[in-house]
This record gives sequence, C-alpha cells and structure tokens, in this order.
Amino acid sequence: MSACQICAGTLSPCQRFAPYPFVECARCGFIFRPDLDDARLAEVYTAGDYESLRGEEYMRALPARLSDARVRLSYVRQWSPGGRLLDIGAAAGAFVYEASSGGFDASGIEPVPGFARVAREHFGVSVTGGTLSEVPLPDSYYQTITLWHVLEHLPDPVRHLRQAADALSDGGILAIEVPNAGSAIAARMGSSWPSLEPEVHVNQFTPASLRATLAAGGLSVVDLHTSTITPYLTPRARFGVRHLAARAKAFAWLGSIQHTHPTGHELLRAVARRMS
Ligand SMILES: [Zn+2]
Repeated sequence: MSACQICAGTLSPCQRFAPYPFVECARCGFIFRPDLDDARLAEVYTAGDYESLRGEEYMRALPARLSDARVRLSYVRQWSPGGRLLDIGAAAGAFVYEASSGGFDASGIEPVPGFARVAREHFGVSVTGGTLSEVPLPDSYYQTITLWHVLEHLPDPVRHLRQAADALSDGGILAIEVPNAGSAIAARMGSSWPSLEPEVHVNQFTPASLRATLAAGGLSVVDLHTSTITPYLTPRARFGVRHLAARAKAFAWLGSIQHTHPTGHELLRAVARRMS
C-alpha cells in the first residue's frame, strides 16, 4: 500500500469502518478509500440515481437547505471581509442564493448538471456546471471560498485545496464543513454511522487530519471546531420528540451538551487562510 497522500505516513486498513475498504494513516489519521477514483465516482454521479434522488431530496427539503445556508453564512461572516464569494460544490444553489441576498457577490460551481441547472433556473444565481479540473479559477480573486460537505467527496483533496488557495485574494478566507469521523457518534456507530456514506465519501476527516489536509493544500487554520447538528435543525425539528430523545441520550453519554466542541461533535467546521 502506498503512503498517505497528506503526510506520507504509513497506511493500514481502517478496522472501525470495516467491511468498507477504507485505509487510515498512522501519522495524521486521514482515512480514505484508495479504490474509489474520479472515473468510478463519475459513474456514480452521472448514473442518474444520484442526481434524481439527491435532487428530489434537496427540493423537498428546500426550506431546511435555505436554513442550513443561513447558519453557514453567519459563520462565514465572522471571518469574511465580504466581496466576491465562490461556493465550490454548490448543489442546487441555496447557499449562493443566501449569500447573494446577504450582499456578497456570490457564484458557484457544481459538477452535477441537474443541480447547477436548478440553481440557475429556480434561484436565478450564477452556478457553473463542472468540476475544478474543468472550470479554471482566476488567481487571487475571491475574498471567500466555501466548501460545504464537498472535500469528503474528492479523491485528491490536496490538489483541490491548492487550486482554491490560489484563487483566494490576500486576506481571503476558505470556509469548510465535513462530517467528523473522529466524533463520539462515529466511534460508537462505526460502519453504520449515517454520515459515513461509504459509496461517495471517499475521505473521512478528523479534526487532526482536516488540519493536516488544509496545511498540505497551502492553507493555515484560523478556526476549527466541531458542532452538533442542532443549529441546522428547523425550530420544529429542534423541539420534536425524536430530536429531544436523541439529545437526552447524548446527555446521558456525555454529561452535558454544548453546540460547539473542539473535537467531539458530528460536524467539523474550519476557516483557513492562504499561507504566506
Ligand atoms: Zn497522513
């Protein structure tokens, strides 16, 4: 087995997500599937099911997607100087729409053609169809670049981060969110953890490996924390029976629940700047 693409550490099979063939780096903790490459994933994304199922789900849950976008935008505003914003992996455009409405000069790129079309037709926002390999980015141009649940899908995360880093202006920020494979729930559920999505989540990040991946991509972290999913829930879901029961269970395990935590919650979020 070859060395870790992030830190050149030694790789071995990742037992806790077996039987899926993930491997794990002994040094930085990066977990990925070496058997899934761009060609194999292109088959998954273009076979139609992914586009139609995820597309339907997205549109059905549109108020929730817009609510997610507003949570993310308020995080971005803590760090961003405003101005030009690029959302990489924009899906059907909810974040680009909210960012535009909030005064950013926002656009996106999205590889699934049907999603990019919905973004343009439903939201009237600028989302270009394609991947970062197909859509070249201007150098030092964007004040903000966002990757919401995207980096875990990309077989070569370092190359994509380098491209994004080059497109950031001086003082610009990159904001990212991925599932946290180092979370208490991932440890407890192993291969049945819902966010594992082993057919499309090629990479599984922990706080340490996300930091190492950003550094390998030429970015230095200015904020990194984990979050519960609660801030993303609609008020109705937040006070629904199912969520309150899950919270009671989590409280029994953890003794307390705060929405943000350095390592333990299910979502992993970071802001980074280009290394000088
Ligand atoms: Zn490594």
